[in-house]
Amino acid sequence: MTNSETTMDKIVSLCKRRGFIYPSSEIYGGLNSCYDYGPLGSELKRSLKDFWWKSMTQAHTEIHGLDSSILMAPRIWEASGHLENFTDPLVDCKACKSRFRQDKLDGATTCPNCGGEFTAPRQFNLMFKTFMGPVEDAANVVYLRPETAQGIYVNYQNVMTTARAKLPFGIAQIGKAFRNEITPGNFTFRTREFEQMEMQYFVHPTQDEQTMLSWKEKRRAWYKKLNIQDERLQFHEHKGNELAHYAKSAFDIEYKFPFGWSELEGIHNRTDFDLKRHQEFSGKNLQYFDEATKDKFIPYIIETSAGCDRTILCILCDAFVEEPERIVLKLAPFIAPIQVAILPLVKKDGLPDISNDISKSLQKLYRVSRDDSGSIGKRYRRQDEIGTPFCITIDYQTKEDQTVTIRNRDTMTQDRISISQIQTYIEPSLTPPID
Ligand code: ATP
Repeated sequence: MTNSETTMDKIVSLCKRRGFIYPSSEIYGGLNSCYDYGPLGSELKRSLKDFWWKSMTQAHTEIHGLDSSILMAPRIWEASGHLENFTDPLVDCKACKSRFRQDKLDGATTCPNCGGEFTAPRQFNLMFKTFMGPVEDAANVVYLRPETAQGIYVNYQNVMTTARAKLPFGIAQIGKAFRNEITPGNFTFRTREFEQMEMQYFVHPTQDEQTMLSWKEKRRAWYKKLNIQDERLQFHEHKGNELAHYAKSAFDIEYKFPFGWSELEGIHNRTDFDLKRHQEFSGKNLQYFDEATKDKFIPYIIETSAGCDRTILCILCDAFVEEPERIVLKLAPFIAPIQVAILPLVKKDGLPDISNDISKSLQKLYRVSRDDSGSIGKRYRRQDEIGTPFCITIDYQTKEDQTVTIRNRDTMTQDRISISQIQTYIEPSLTPPID
């Protein structure tokens, strides 16, 4: 393994070079901590979100989907406690004016850049504020949501009624969230605009601990399905001051990034805090009525909150392997942005036509790319670098006997199979493991 700095540099460079992730607004000099996903990055992200969505809603008939708006009634943020509590302690260096999050300084009492003295910490609210409509006054203030969860809580009754849901049930949502982070950084790890994949599971208050345990295990297993190495995953339990204002217990799933162990996903027991507060602030009765026992109560919520962008970064870091002859991204085949590359040996003698036919039949089912320029060796290296699990080469023998070679990215071994067997050959690896 190369040293951590080099490895992050290499990931960033591969992302730019091959079209996974670009700096945002690049022709204007970029915008700090904002990124754009290119052709390969957007496919990867879309596949990841699709896999998460299906792992939640398709694999669990009691979990229902939602897509709520980013702008919501500002009272929601009073009720949730975000206006009051969603703050980080900010300190400035009096000498070089650098800004830091005090809780991320590992106890340092002087500036890590120049040794200067810090200002006293002040609480900085992370919510982005804007105005609704043309008049910029206090009555029109709205916030960009700092988490997608609140959109779920305020729709809990709508979903329960329309989906005729009974406890326990869940609501899943993927969407953008915004936080005015004091120190964004480590590429896409901490940005001010990012996507979350959140599932809120509503349970009877006596079921909270066992539900928490079960989701902890399911969520860790989910990362393994993405080929993430298990020894690079760990749980971190929040203790004392680390616990958010709403949480009874909380675990982070952390990944060993090149810059150290850092959070991928939070699994929180939010108790009845949020629904109780929304009941109080909205004046609406949010109790659940249990028809069997005739009990009325506010359900507890177990939240699994994953960062989409952080998971993409984790997938790229985990898959990145440098071998003497090549760079290879060992992505789980079902998530790879290109799943099958079609490579005609030469651009003549009817080989492109055969390639077109194969490509057409496969692209209805898979993400397929054609590459017909350069030597075959070079083309394999190009596909290895972007994580394409299968390369199909069409050569002169194909014309004779309708066979092709199919090369495995990880082992680099090649099999000669007939065109009619291609789909059966690749399908097991390309089917997302949803269960
Ligand atoms: P951190 O301690 O890293 O600031 P957090 O504990 O505030 O994260 P949560 O509020 O639990 O994070 O958010 C759930 C998930 O959303 C995180 O696990 C992470 O994957 C993602 N996330 C949170 N903040 C950011 C950010 N600024 N940039 C990218 N992803 C983020």
